[in-house]
Amino acid sequence: KQKEAQRQLKNIKLMVTDKDEDVFFDDVAGIGDAKVELQEIVDFFQKPEKFRASGSRIPRGVLLCGPPGTGKTLLARAVAGEAGATFIALNASEFVEMFVGARAQSPAIIFIDEIDSVGRIRGGATGNDERDQTLNQMLSEMDGFDSDLQVIVMAATNRKDILDPALIRPGRFDRIVYVPLPDYFGRIEILKVHLNKRPYAADIDFHDLAFETTGYSGAQLANLVNMAATVAASAQRTEIQYSDLEKAMEYERLGPERPRYSDVARRRIAGMEAATALTCTLLPAIEPVLTVTIVPREKNPLGQTVVKPDEGREMTGLWTRRYLEQQLLTVLSGRAAEELIYGVDEMSSLHQLRLADARQIVSKLVVSAAMTENAAIGPRTVSVPRPVGAGLMQAITQNVPPALHYAADTEMEKILQASYEDVKAMLARNRDALDRIIEALLEKDTLDGDEVLAIVEAHACKEDLESRA
Ligand code: ADP
Repeated sequence: KQKEAQRQLKNIKLMVTDKDEDVFFDDVAGIGDAKVELQEIVDFFQKPEKFRASGSRIPRGVLLCGPPGTGKTLLARAVAGEAGATFIALNASEFVEMFVGARAQSPAIIFIDEIDSVGRIRGGATGNDERDQTLNQMLSEMDGFDSDLQVIVMAATNRKDILDPALIRPGRFDRIVYVPLPDYFGRIEILKVHLNKRPYAADIDFHDLAFETTGYSGAQLANLVNMAATVAASAQRTEIQYSDLEKAMEYERLGPERPRYSDVARRRIAGMEAATALTCTLLPAIEPVLTVTIVPREKNPLGQTVVKPDEGREMTGLWTRRYLEQQLLTVLSGRAAEELIYGVDEMSSLHQLRLADARQIVSKLVVSAAMTENAAIGPRTVSVPRPVGAGLMQAITQNVPPALHYAADTEMEKILQASYEDVKAMLARNRDALDRIIEALLEKDTLDGDEVLAIVEAHACKEDLESRA
């Protein structure tokens, strides 16, 4: 038996991080109250008697919940660092085998990533005997904990909703700490943590950076800084500049470059992107264009028009009718431009994806959010929202009377048709600006928002420019 424990200990040594790799709370940034909540765990390691005397319940398991890359692993390591405990990462499936050895390392934090891989609700339609067995064993190991031991199990998941309720019962993972995606201020803090590890230019604009990285996780931000360091190094600089970070962001957004297309295809793609950039610039509800490009990239093999992200909208999913209606025009604009330039018979299949986007937008307008004033539909939706974990919603069709279905379909067709005609007319009015953006794209491959704006302000039709103000 002792031999067995020794063997396990040996295995575990491999997973225990070195002392000089210790992580502390200061290394984890932008996660709101999570650190405050975890201070209790650190206190338990530092003054166990005091903790017990105060009558507080001894913590045993902590569940860290949040999207990938938000710093859950880092946070668990930081708790170990602050507490002076050994950090041991175990795979959920090897938990039971390794547990005895890991426990012998007390004081220790045992960390299990993706606990949902074994911790799903037992039995049921997707039940799996082997997995259920592992979960049962894990629960019984945790229940058998000696309360004199200074060992705490921390587990991470992005899917608390599918966890077996038995896991979060008192005495098991009864402390739940949420680790959300960082907000604007959180992103600035995280960027600073990672930039502070190396020299960087004094004029880096953190406001802009945080703005442009809306939706990034801590891991993506860390990766951005690393990539920027590589860009700087390849330019023989030790200091990271803002432009290095911008290059890294572009890379992150679009992936590596792909081979160029033929001239004919490039011109078609330039037409589609020029129309998108032009309409985004002219339509007042759409955010300003950041960049438009026809360089084929891994994640976007055609071209791409990127607008400034809007924090409020991205974080809350709050869409106004006005915004959606104008967004619909922008996604239809590529096809409208191709029709204008090449004629109906020469239209291409380039627009398939954008047309699918268009359908989704109208469907949000009419079917799921019911924003139309068509009396046959009114505020009735044809679908109901259903939570699908981590705060996301998915619209599913409910039982609706055929007449409502029909009215919704007809309304969607009507809006699509009318929007298409609108955007075609808009592009025809601004043909001069459109052609100039196309030529600029063919010449330079990529334009930034200011370059697009300069062309639009100089060559768009007056009426459209005025309605922007
Ligand atoms: P998770 O476990 O939530 O998937 P990790 O802790 O593995 O995320 O994050 C990976 C890396 O990203 C970390 O090692 C760190 O470099 C960086 N990182 C993630 N979140 C943060 C944060 N909140 N503060 C600082 N760095 C972070």
